[in-house]
Amino acid sequence: MIRRAYWSDPWTSIPRGKAQLSNHRLRQPGDLPHDIHFTHICLEHRVAASVGALPGESRGMTTSPDVLIVGAGLAGLACGRHLADAQVSFQIIEAADGIGGRVRTDEFDGFLLDRGFQVLLTAYPEAQRTLDYHALELKKFTPGAFSWFAGRMNKLVDPWRTPGGWSEALRSDFGGFLDKLRILRLRSRLRSSSIDQIFKHPERSTRDALVSAGFSEEFIHRFFRPFFGGILLDGELKSSSRMFEFVFKMLSEGDIAVPARGMGAIPAQLASHLPADSIRLNTHAESLHENELTLTGGESLRARAIVVAADGPGAAHLVGEAEPASRSVTCFYFSADEPPVPHPMLVLNGDGAGPVNNFAVISQIAPSYAPAGKSLVSVSVLGTQQLTDQQLGGFIIAQMKNWFGTVASSWCHLKSYRIPHAQPQQLPGALEPPQRAVRVRPGIYLCGDHRDNASIDGAMLSGRRAAEAVLADLSR
Ligand SMILES: Cc1cc2nc3c(=O)[nH]c(=O)nc-3n(C[C@H](O)[C@H](O)[C@H](O)COP(=O)(O)OP(=O)(O)OC[C@H]3O[C@@H](n4cnc5c(N)ncnc54)[C@H](O)[C@@H]3O)c2cc1C
Repeated sequence: MIRRAYWSDPWTSIPRGKAQLSNHRLRQPGDLPHDIHFTHICLEHRVAASVGALPGESRGMTTSPDVLIVGAGLAGLACGRHLADAQVSFQIIEAADGIGGRVRTDEFDGFLLDRGFQVLLTAYPEAQRTLDYHALELKKFTPGAFSWFAGRMNKLVDPWRTPGGWSEALRSDFGGFLDKLRILRLRSRLRSSSIDQIFKHPERSTRDALVSAGFSEEFIHRFFRPFFGGILLDGELKSSSRMFEFVFKMLSEGDIAVPARGMGAIPAQLASHLPADSIRLNTHAESLHENELTLTGGESLRARAIVVAADGPGAAHLVGEAEPASRSVTCFYFSADEPPVPHPMLVLNGDGAGPVNNFAVISQIAPSYAPAGKSLVSVSVLGTQQLTDQQLGGFIIAQMKNWFGTVASSWCHLKSYRIPHAQPQQLPGALEPPQRAVRVRPGIYLCGDHRDNASIDGAMLSGRRAAEAVLADLSR
């Protein structure tokens, strides 16, 4: 039987002496400086299995491939997929024990836990081009959001996609009339701009763009700050307005969704198109010299082309570039007996008090994320935070008790993920030019979300760009 610790009170927390506090690292300490650390608190726990992890320690190849790819995140897998389509041989070297990089899902005690709350925007063009949405069994959020402010939960409906939504939106006191008018204007301007045009718009901070578009401070604080702060992992909205406009356009043209089997189903689908022996797990690339890759342990691998598809900090280490700054986030998962909100919508912290920026009852969107009779609550706190899980969990529950009453005391903490490098920081200037070169020097290529934009789409697009560059160069 699995027994768990319940927070009956944010300050007393778990019965002392009974709780096991387990710290796991995905790889050996020192393997990668930008690791994901996760901790869970349970009196007993089951080993988490990663959805999408390939069985076996490694899946080595015997002959030298034409191309070596470092990293089996979305960028590396997308690159591999395009090389496979062109029938060019390659091998992917991955430091972790499974594929997916920042997009992985753990099975834990009957729940599916994505390693940090994240979603697929179905309008992403590269995702549409590359993924089979039907096979992913996408489950969609109800358009709109709840926002907590003025001591109550307020609903922002999306009038374009909610039956009867126009009268509800106009009557709602969430945003003044002028803010609603400006949303309308922004939406129609971005829908009629192409993505290429958006990435050529003058770049400034998202906040400056919103202020100059005339949005009220109140509406920015109650809606844009927690909503886009949660997507860009930037509570101050300092990120590039180009990224904000791109995401806004995607939101207005499609749905927010998760695959029924967790976000890890996305890399798993990409990997299913690759040759069976093309990914070597638990293998860390230590250094790169010309067309030779040295692995931790001393083994050397050579290929005609090497594609570094590592995360920004990891790639910088290998190719000798300056390390990009990171956006970080902490995700807490709770099991609840009842969902605290009535609809499968994002819930925002619109008053700004307390650690929680946003949360979703993810099992309301995709019931397969939780066992029958349970709700899975995914809470996002921006940054990695200095507090222990017990301390931060206590603050989260205190905030949720303020919003939902004592029922939040019975939420059971399942696991938390602290992700120091969740996204590259994209301040104004970072997307100028919008796409960074994938050719670094002869035979060496780079891809990853740091080459395009910090998203699932940007990562896959950069993987395709790198594959196209490799194919062009190899055919010369
Ligand atoms: C919590 C969170 C929330 C997010 N939310 C969203 C969202 O809602 N929507 C969205 O579109 N995007 C979101 N993102 C961003 C998106 O997940 C990333 O942009 C994308 O997954 C990056 O893919 P990548 O392949 O570029 O890098 P990664 O996924 O980081 O893959 C790089 C891989 O390289 C491996 N590696 C690194 N160095 C080495 C080495 N030396 N040797 C061998 N292997 C190495 C790593 O282990 C890793 O597997 C979110 C990210 C996080 C973490």
